Amino acid sequence: MKISVIGTGYVGLPTGVGLAELGHDVICIDKDESKIKTLQSGQVTLFEEGLPALFKKNVESGKIRFSGSFQEGIENADVVILAVGTPPDPVTKEADLKYIFAAAEELAQYLNDYTVVAVKSTVPVGTGDKVEALIRQKNPTADFDVISVPEFLREGYAVQDFFHPDRIVIGSNSQRAQKVMHELYRYFEGKTEILYVSRYSSETIKYASNAFLAVKIHYINEMADFCEKTGADIREVAKGMGLDKRIGNRFLNAGPGYGGSCFPKDTMAMACMARKAGVNLSLIENVIEKNAARKKQMAHRILEQVKDIQDPKIAVWGLAFKEGTDDCRESPALEIVQELIAKGAKITGYDPKASENARKILGNQISYAADMYEAARGADVLAVLTEWPEFKKADLDKLSSLMRSQKIVDCRNMLNSNEAFEKGFDYSCIGQTFKTVS
Ligand code: NAD
Repeated sequence: MKISVIGTGYVGLPTGVGLAELGHDVICIDKDESKIKTLQSGQVTLFEEGLPALFKKNVESGKIRFSGSFQEGIENADVVILAVGTPPDPVTKEADLKYIFAAAEELAQYLNDYTVVAVKSTVPVGTGDKVEALIRQKNPTADFDVISVPEFLREGYAVQDFFHPDRIVIGSNSQRAQKVMHELYRYFEGKTEILYVSRYSSETIKYASNAFLAVKIHYINEMADFCEKTGADIREVAKGMGLDKRIGNRFLNAGPGYGGSCFPKDTMAMACMARKAGVNLSLIENVIEKNAARKKQMAHRILEQVKDIQDPKIAVWGLAFKEGTDDCRESPALEIVQELIAKGAKITGYDPKASENARKILGNQISYAADMYEAARGADVLAVLTEWPEFKKADLDKLSSLMRSQKIVDCRNMLNSNEAFEKGFDYSCIGQTFKTVS
């Protein structure tokens, strides 16, 4: 099949490459000329495990191409997938649909044969109606269906999630469109549940899922606060909870609060939609507020460790919003760092993949180290803010010899607390209290 993917970001690029690997002819279109140039030169524009090899293979076989031209991409496509961003409006916090509408308007003129326009971006309920109306207005004779195909991939696992999704949701009542999507996703038949629902339900499933996961993360964070006051250990509690299949063991890692390009914006958009619909989503509203406050609390914990030191130096391990990605959008690590900067701390950060993107946000307000030990050199406290596996394997003797004061605030529960104490660190983490060592 001929597939056009509009938007080559964290969703569009792995989706395009994945579909090419399944044998489809894919063309990815983006408005960002520098991205298209980089992709055309054979380089991947973002960090995602396993993507470069698959990208290279499909570029070389000619199954995937990149272009800045809608005309080139849309004409003759069987399916046009919209994967552009839907960031929060800075004032209202609703999903800003300007990129969706701009893409829909532009693609409309190039539709010729019957085409399925599949909205993969996360969009509020009813957006499909608006996209359909817009295309119809621009091109009254076009033969098309607009459907909703929400994306559920996790950054850092995008390739794995493309080939092994928990489910594929297709929101459309058009049998013609369903038939086309059935063909597109033939590979997944018998491997993955393919759920056909209405467009409204499909749009809602995405928000309802992300809001649920955000609530789950916040729940375990509140349990961690409880454990800190009562002497229980959140890791043991989470393990005991997660063994219950009704609960499941994922998203039960206590930490500094959720972040990233999805959960913060999607919970806010969900709350906005509900308010407009006259529905009180008090749980989600509360989680949004408490999750934002949590990052400030984490910064406070770190600052407490250096409150008696003049011009403290803080080392930060991890700048990306999670491990396995270079994405720093709404990263809890960066929000915490910004709090620390505001309090006058001198910071050296290290991230295995995200320093470049962090620099685009923080500029030269912090220093960037080439490795985790360099970041810790001369530091009064080390804050662990992203769960990169390499932090787990840190050589604590080496760390101790490099730091000015042996203090660690481990906001991701990455290090071995017993070992940290043995090596003489003043170590604190999330959801556990330790007897003070002298
Ligand atoms: P992104 O910002 O990484 O990529 C969006 C791309 O769209 C950019 O390259 C941008 O240049 C391009 N673009 C914008 N307007 C365009 C236009 N008119 N024509 C062509 N290209 C255009 O965004 P993302 O993280 O890939 O997210 C895309 C959508 O998928 C969002 O709605 C997001 O909520 C949703 N989503 C994201 C994830 C994730 O993990 N990132 C997961 C599930 C769903």
